Amino acid sequence: MRIVVYGSINIDLTAYTPTLPIAGETLLGHSYLMSLGGKGANQAVASARLGAEVSLIGHVGDDTFGQRAMQQLNGYGVDVSRVETLTDQGTGLAVISVDDNGENTIIVLSGANMYFDENDVERFRDLLRKAQVLLMQLEVPVGADLAVAKIAHEEGVKVILDPAPAAQLPDELYHIADIMTPNEVETEILVGIRPSSLDEAAEAANRLRDRGLDTAVITLGSGGTYCASGSDNIHLPAFQVDTVDTVAAGDAFAGGLALAISEGLPINQALNWGAAAGALCTTRAGASVAMPDRDEVVKLLAST
Ligand code: ADP
Repeated sequence: MRIVVYGSINIDLTAYTPTLPIAGETLLGHSYLMSLGGKGANQAVASARLGAEVSLIGHVGDDTFGQRAMQQLNGYGVDVSRVETLTDQGTGLAVISVDDNGENTIIVLSGANMYFDENDVERFRDLLRKAQVLLMQLEVPVGADLAVAKIAHEEGVKVILDPAPAAQLPDELYHIADIMTPNEVETEILVGIRPSSLDEAAEAANRLRDRGLDTAVITLGSGGTYCASGSDNIHLPAFQVDTVDTVAAGDAFAGGLALAISEGLPINQALNWGAAAGALCTTRAGASVAMPDRDEVVKLLAST
């Protein structure tokens, strides 16, 4: 089954340091790590690790970070033949500092991710036509998401939008997207309710559906997932796992959900795939390196 992911590709540069520097301070850190990141790349890796054929649409700069990102995506089996290299933009970077207490600061430099030629979106029609699912996020221009989603919709491809990081969306996107997967913070920015109970999650999901969305999936961290669609209202508790860090749990969830939808599973089973992938991702540190493989998810699903 084929999934097209349109989204951001970053290199995450993480500096581990005793304390976070204050303005004007230079301090000696412990070590650094360079890893693949960006929600588009993370979600592409998540789906590929679970066995989907994944093609990524996105942009990198003509630099060593871009080459490194492409190599890593390739290594995970993600098709990057439609990723475009720009000569006048740098590859997206996240510059992260983490201190000994786990506090962090993050600067995202979007670079090439913010580029998109909306007048030439037809070039992706052939790719989208062969897919079952288009998966997108908001680390790219929202107008570009809308333009790609329109083509997918015309071709009968299911459109899943993970509205992260939170931003207001054009009305049309609620009608075109089949599924949206906001977390609690994103839900608050979209509809003004930060769900702290299932009743509030239900009310928030209804507000999303009132705008034209078919299926609202609100992720509640260790509180699980609430889903409202025309036929089902489901609360799925989170899987019990030994959590190390929750970085990229939402990306793993989106990748698992997209994989299951691309395989034709109904929404209640697809939520399980997302939740299992999200939970397993929290048992390991990091983003793309923490994505579980298919066997791990199948095993966790079978254990319940
Ligand atoms: P985001 O990373 O976007 O904030 P969430 O934290 O809501 O997303 O996590 C997405 C999904 O991953 C949740 O709906 C849940 O199924 C799973 N998940 C997240 N955190 C945990 C956890 N601590 N234990 C088990 N599952 C988790």
